Amino acid sequence: MAYKRINLPYAYDALEPFIDKETVELHYENHHKGYEIKLNNALTNTNIEIKYPTLVSLVSNYQNITDDNLKLSIREAGGGLINHNFFWDNLQKNIEFKDSELKDEISITWGSLENFKESFKKEALGLFGSGWVWLVRRNSGGLKIIRTFNQDNPWYLGFDPILSIDLWEHSYYLKHNSNRANYFENYWNVINWDFAIEQFTKSLSKG
Ligand code: MN
Repeated sequence: MAYKRINLPYAYDALEPFIDKETVELHYENHHKGYEIKLNNALTNTNIEIKYPTLVSLVSNYQNITDDNLKLSIREAGGGLINHNFFWDNLQKNIEFKDSELKDEISITWGSLENFKESFKKEALGLFGSGWVWLVRRNSGGLKIIRTFNQDNPWYLGFDPILSIDLWEHSYYLKHNSNRANYFENYWNVINWDFAIEQFTKSLSKG
């Protein structure tokens, strides 16, 4: 397969008790794998891979694909594949948010980390239907919270993602049922801030 899932960077139970083993396993082995298979199946017998050798380049350019079915597969399954690749790296237990340019920029933009958390939470709880909420860096430089529906993603919108939260019910329903606020609070405990800092630094180096 040309475009791949990342290897899960930890064991299924590594995020317990905040995100349970069953949810991680099902989410990675069923949902995430499904996007991987669906995307690669759709691209069989095309030369798309030669034109867009990386998953980022593929999803960023999906609007240029002329075949409507193929375009939709890349938007949905390609988006699902890359969003989950990012999401797993975005999580890790026991990572404190170290002093950094990202931490400073969040404080400048929202006043404090606590205020940012409240704004991010508000977007996450307010999202209607299935989708994602992201902290992104704009090309012009500033930080921003955005929503994307279904498996739409920041890459094709021209944003660099820093943080994400999956708000499809499959990411929390087993443990939290419909209590999305509870899921959010648990998610907040397992953010891999080192990864977020790395994404921000990478984005800054692009200008
Ligand atoms: Mn998901």
